[in-house]
Amino acid sequence: MMSEYNAKKIKSANDEWEIIIGLEVHAQIITNLKLFSNGAAEFRKEANHKLDLLDIGLPGTLPVINRMAVDQAIKTGLALNATINKRSIFDRKNYFYPDLPLGYQISQFKDPIVSEGFINIDISDSKTKTIKIERLHLEQDAGKSLHDQSPDKTFIDYNRAGVALMEIVSYPDLSDWEEAGNYLTKLRSILRFVNTCDGNMEEGSLRCDANVSVRKPNEPLGTRCEIKNLNSIKNLMKAIEYEATRQVTVLEGGNKIIQETRLFDTNSGKTKTMRSKEEAHDYRYFPDPDLLPLELTDKRIEDISKTLPELPDDLKIRLLNQYGLSAYDARVISSDQGTTEYFEVLSNNRDAKQAANWIITNLFGKLNDSGKSIKDSPIDAKELGKLLDLINKQIISNKIAKEVFEEMFTSGKSAATIIEKKGLKQISNTDEIEGIVDKIISSNEKQKKQYQSGNTKVLGWFVGQVMKETKGQANPSVVNKVIIDKLKK
Ligand code: MN
Repeated sequence: MMSEYNAKKIKSANDEWEIIIGLEVHAQIITNLKLFSNGAAEFRKEANHKLDLLDIGLPGTLPVINRMAVDQAIKTGLALNATINKRSIFDRKNYFYPDLPLGYQISQFKDPIVSEGFINIDISDSKTKTIKIERLHLEQDAGKSLHDQSPDKTFIDYNRAGVALMEIVSYPDLSDWEEAGNYLTKLRSILRFVNTCDGNMEEGSLRCDANVSVRKPNEPLGTRCEIKNLNSIKNLMKAIEYEATRQVTVLEGGNKIIQETRLFDTNSGKTKTMRSKEEAHDYRYFPDPDLLPLELTDKRIEDISKTLPELPDDLKIRLLNQYGLSAYDARVISSDQGTTEYFEVLSNNRDAKQAANWIITNLFGKLNDSGKSIKDSPIDAKELGKLLDLINKQIISNKIAKEVFEEMFTSGKSAATIIEKKGLKQISNTDEIEGIVDKIISSNEKQKKQYQSGNTKVLGWFVGQVMKETKGQANPSVVNKVIIDKLKK
């Protein structure tokens, strides 16, 4: 029986504290141009590369909406089970910073393009939890200040200025750091399925802010702090765990939580004050007079909905039903399209559970070690399939197959070539195995007697000896049978 799921709480000597978490995720939209200009939305080029005049805020320039970015936001909204608003408004969010040459960010405030959606996360093998999404709005990214290029100057790179972002805001439905990590993983997986954001957190195309507060059960919500710019799922989880614990310590010390923006220091594992929290009214939001309200037709939304692929939740159910996978295996395989494609080729005319198991245990292990994705796997699904066939025809044992697999991964050679070259074929010939077993039994009288006096555990020891003698190449089921027959005599 699966134990009942309970969200983690912070326990102190006297009390138990609940954690309340909401996440704001900035996802960079896959599109070649910026949200309102023809500047190039490409990175890791030299600084200030292919900028448009609007990106550096020159007077007289005007924003023009990027149609593809809007379509991508609609597609994402549909994948998040959300309402697509047929009329949305672009607002100016006013503040000064050197990386913001316009003096304001064009964003959406009261009337976002998408509202009220949800994501299901798996909280155990048999249970899911629905996390509600408040909104998804379109906005521009800012440029980047470079403080490390000169001892006494700061440089500005506007490559990112004006790049199209979706800000996806959840309700505070998350109850611990694992749920938060789970939610971000699932959101990233959905974004990748619909191909609207590449989801690469290390490169900054997916960034996460976490709002965290704590309270005793049944008490009103506590004051929250916002942790900015978490750049990996691991850091998100660590930051929330630290921050919730910190808040409990502050409150139990008789002090108050100050609403503020904090940064997570990955070296110390602690969050630190960055600035006191600003409120929406500090930004003097108002509708951008240079932009008309964004109006969408039913047909446009409908046409985009027809382009949606099979999404992770539906895919998981299909894998459960069609292949009889376990809930865990179905979840892991369905979290990525590349993995699903690999699995469907590998399991074709083979045992699906064996296929899933080889992908999750062996292939993922090697891919992780070498930092490769399944799409760049040196062993493709057809080649791995041939290896599984050799196991299933009892030409090699599972143990030998793992050695062959290792070599396939590093050399790129086929299973058959490696087995042939190294002479690894399994010994299933009963005569040959009998000869080896006879030799081992006759030189180990003590163990033979132990077995005959009822200590059947010694059987494993004999099997081990035969395997040692044959360098693991003897067929284990034949070996077992032969040893039992011989020991009876
Ligand atoms: Mn934002």
